[in-house]
Amino acid sequence: MTANPYPLGLRLHGRRVVVVGGGTVATRRVPALMDAGADVLLVAPELTPALRAQVDAGRLHWVPRRFEPEDLDGAWLVQVAIDDPMAAASVSAVAAERRIFCVRADDRTAATAWTPAVTRHGPVTVAVLGGGDPRRAMTVRDAIRDLLAVRLGSDGTASTRGRPGSSAGATGGTDVVGAGGAGSAGSAGGAGGGRRAGRVALVGAGPGDPELITVKGWRLLTEADVVVADRLVPGLLLDELRPDVELVDASKIPYGPSRAQEEINQILVDRALAGAVVVRLKGGDPYVFGRGGEELLACAAAGVPVTVVPGVTSSIAAPAAAGIPVTHRGVAHEFTVVSGHLAPDSPASLVRWDALAGLHGTLVILMGLKNLAAITATLIAHGRPPQTPAAVVQEATTGTQRVLRSTLGEVAADLLAADLRPPAVVVVGDVVGTLDG
Ligand code: SAH
Repeated sequence: MTANPYPLGLRLHGRRVVVVGGGTVATRRVPALMDAGADVLLVAPELTPALRAQVDAGRLHWVPRRFEPEDLDGAWLVQVAIDDPMAAASVSAVAAERRIFCVRADDRTAATAWTPAVTRHGPVTVAVLGGGDPRRAMTVRDAIRDLLAVRLGSDGTASTRGRPGSSAGATGGTDVVGAGGAGSAGSAGGAGGGRRAGRVALVGAGPGDPELITVKGWRLLTEADVVVADRLVPGLLLDELRPDVELVDASKIPYGPSRAQEEINQILVDRALAGAVVVRLKGGDPYVFGRGGEELLACAAAGVPVTVVPGVTSSIAAPAAAGIPVTHRGVAHEFTVVSGHLAPDSPASLVRWDALAGLHGTLVILMGLKNLAAITATLIAHGRPPQTPAAVVQEATTGTQRVLRSTLGEVAADLLAADLRPPAVVVVGDVVGTLDG
């Protein structure tokens, strides 16, 4: 009978961790050590390309030879990631002599420390040990991860929201502190008197399939007090919000489009200054024809901190959902995403359709159905061949997705005949049909 392990959270920032071995096990172990800020020293005659890239980028130290006892000088922890039991045992022996904990990939029973199966959820880390059985640990971890994805918003809010800055996480997104300066969230009048600081997250919801939101976007959504959602946001995501979350449907705001945008900006700022965690949920990616930049500027001007979480944009995902890669080796080495909401001859148009006609690559047109006849005619008039393959993808990645295959010369007429409607993207280029047959 072996005694129970004693769980610890090691704070490895700036501390030396030695990894012996440079193969697939080391490749899998090193990222979490780097995430913890450890000063990682790799000891191995050879490295996988992934590890080599980290060494080349100056993020890891590498001693290109077999292990020597002095490699453990100054180390707090050693991970043995080699198969050879004799070599591994000799590392273990040196580590034990020096009282350095030693994780062994080859033999758990000989190790002095075990690495748990882990799931991270914002500031919360859950580590599971399976009594020496890694599969059991992973099964339990997976179950907890699923629970947390759904529950942490309601159960974990008190702890995550109480600490300013913790709920939006620091990694991955772009954190922008408003004009009020770092730490002065709500300086324009909201967060005084001990009230908690509000903030805004501009979150891309993806193109339509609710599973195509990012992990980070989903987490922020589960932590929100207020959600301001667009028309194109997958309804199922909103279905799962807690009942006490205030849901503002941005598409129902009256007035014209520009006034409505001002209203939305005002709602974001007002709620955040009142202390709310606000998620502005937008279809696709917030910065692709999504007016995310305007909302960011409005929040910044009011001193409200903003996090931007990119999303899967329909400009790439809609073609993909129809089996069309926007680039393909030997077929298209570029793709251009353009808005078709203004006719090519509109004085307000910022698009050089004549120049686009001269490109060989893929052209992806968003918001282009209404003006498609004028757009295709302009492209053809400036030299893009009418027989260039073209496709229209409506409501991509949803259960009602429809795809039309055609050519540049005929797509506008075919579109009317097929009665396709927005939201849809139009794809022009030889990539259409590349993967067929
Ligand atoms: N920010 C969004 C685009 C907003 S503009 C993004 O990154 O995807 C709105 C246009 O996006 C629509 O008119 C349509 O052209 C396109 N679009 C959005 N969702 C779509 C979907 N599921 N299928 C096809 N086109 C879509």
